[in-house]
Amino acid sequence: MKIVAYRQNGQPGVGLVSADLLQVQPFDLPQAQREQGALALIEMQARGEALPPLLAAVALSGVQITAPLPRPRRNIFCVGKNYFAHAKEFAGSGFDSSARAGEDIPDCPIYFTKVPESVVGPGAAIEMPAVSSAIDYEAELTVIIGRGGKGILAKDAMAHVWGYTIINDVTARDWQSRHKQWHLGKSFDTFCPMGPWLVSADECDGTRTGVRCYVNNELRQNASTTDLIFDIPKLIETLSAGITLYPGDVIATGTPVGVGIGFKPPRYLKFGDVVRVEIDGIGSLENPVR
Ligand code: MG
Repeated sequence: MKIVAYRQNGQPGVGLVSADLLQVQPFDLPQAQREQGALALIEMQARGEALPPLLAAVALSGVQITAPLPRPRRNIFCVGKNYFAHAKEFAGSGFDSSARAGEDIPDCPIYFTKVPESVVGPGAAIEMPAVSSAIDYEAELTVIIGRGGKGILAKDAMAHVWGYTIINDVTARDWQSRHKQWHLGKSFDTFCPMGPWLVSADECDGTRTGVRCYVNNELRQNASTTDLIFDIPKLIETLSAGITLYPGDVIATGTPVGVGIGFKPPRYLKFGDVVRVEIDGIGSLENPVR
């Protein structure tokens, strides 16, 4: 199933997207739960409860789609340098403060987080901050946790995956480099476009799907998640070893080669650009830069 969050006449809604992507059937939920997007539904399923009844379908074109988790329950977990070719391009850019010479391919997953308030939905502007002149895009397959847990083993991890969405891990490269860590430069307001909806794991195999990113219709990133250095089970095993995971937790799995900083000279985002991330089995997420 595909779960979309939206606003219609100013009111929040969350519903099931039809197979032809033309309609949405709203779930009958109280407003406080609709404000949370798909979170309440994921929590219900984790408790073994049935989903709420569906109301009459409306045209998807008649609603404004928002991020499926407009304010995730806590920081978004993200993985750095998780594709071989991207790890090499990042090391070669001179902006990587996380590795010494010869250590461009990590031995263990590198985690950082983005604050929940950085999330915006499809079509929302990525705002160019006055304090950075090096804004970059990162297309990422993103895992949504269904059943929580701690000490989850890799062999059991896929049973904890509710499904997937798309995140553009927008980054201020100058802040990422200067402050010797990644949280600040990746958490600016509007730096986490998410959407267009959540797709359940029975409809999309995130372990082997295509990830692409276009800037103004120019293909910049084009890879398969089969090229991940640390696969989804390993990422969940590592993260949950010491941190209890909860239903609705968000894990962005890293970006492939082709980010702006990989070009010489770098090709950062500029006013008026449009970034579109496509992932096979999920859909596309497009955001203008303003
Ligand atoms: Mg990233």
